[in-house]
Amino acid sequence: HAKSAGRNTYKFFTAEMNLQVRERLELENLLRQAEARNELSVHYQPQVELAGGRLIGCEALLRWHAGERGNIPPDRFIPVAEDTGLIVPIGRWILKTACAQAQAWRQAGLGDLQVAVNASAVQLHHGDFVETVATVLAETGLPPDLLEIELTESTLMTDADSAAATLRALKVLGVGLAIDDFGTGYSSLAYLKRFQLDRLKIDRSFINDLPADKDDANITRTIVGIARNLGLSVLAEGVETPAQHQFLLEHGCDEGQGYLFSRPLPAGSMEALLRATGTRGGA
Ligand code: C2E
Ligand code: MG
Ligand code: MG
Ligand code: MG
Repeated sequence: HAKSAGRNTYKFFTAEMNLQVRERLELENLLRQAEARNELSVHYQPQVELAGGRLIGCEALLRWHAGERGNIPPDRFIPVAEDTGLIVPIGRWILKTACAQAQAWRQAGLGDLQVAVNASAVQLHHGDFVETVATVLAETGLPPDLLEIELTESTLMTDADSAAATLRALKVLGVGLAIDDFGTGYSSLAYLKRFQLDRLKIDRSFINDLPADKDDANITRTIVGIARNLGLSVLAEGVETPAQHQFLLEHGCDEGQGYLFSRPLPAGSMEALLRATGTRGGA
């Protein structure tokens, strides 16, 4: 009995694995053609000053409309793009698109809106990342301080020496640096200091159950304290309720991003918002 049960389990797992492998391969093939087919777009999520609600920037978030298969969320296809290296050309496209967009808004007189672009470890450790950023800034004309690169703790910790060198080169260019999903990965304060960051983004998992969850409340207060001590700005991700907003304000968090303020918006809607409200650097 044990033997046949074992065999069935084995069969079950292989069938399951085959399906996963096939789905992944299919996703990979679709993803290879996504850019050429104009299936990729960038949405922009407003970032605001918690006191007063002023717009201070936006985060560029990749969207993929895969033809008949519809929208595929980043959490499903980014890992595939990372494993296959496709994140490198796609990442270049996002960077270029987001910087060109921010510059177009400036030139239309809509203000100096900083745009934050996510970068994976694969991109950061790919030889020409700094050169790619420099080229995109030169080609689009966007002032370097209006670009921020978001990196996670695990990205910084994989090959920390090489990451530190890359970040130093990005600082020389004048680009802003943020640590994304802060609190979910492993990092030491000594490392944080070494990386010349500008901003900590508190992961949404700590914000979600505020203010009721005492552990999350303590963690959030602690992260705000760390940011203060290191002289960094601090932004809360995933702010959805007025009660969360209030808690963050009371505990010294400067900035927020989340559905309470706005969902990620297609470029046209972001532009309409800019026309309606203006930005920090705007007229
Ligand atoms: P992230 O960089 O932490 O981005 C924030 C995610 O939280 C976004 O999900 C955003 O839509 C979502 N979000 C924002 N406010 C709220 C809120 O109030 N409530 C909830 N429940 N969610 C909120 P999205 O766009 O699905 O992206 C997921 C992840 O995929 C990103 O997390 C990032 O790690 C990755 N990603 C997205 N675009 C890119 C990209 O262009 N390049 C790279 N390398 N990764 C990307
Ligand atoms: Mg991010
Ligand atoms: Mg995040
Ligand atoms: Mg994330």
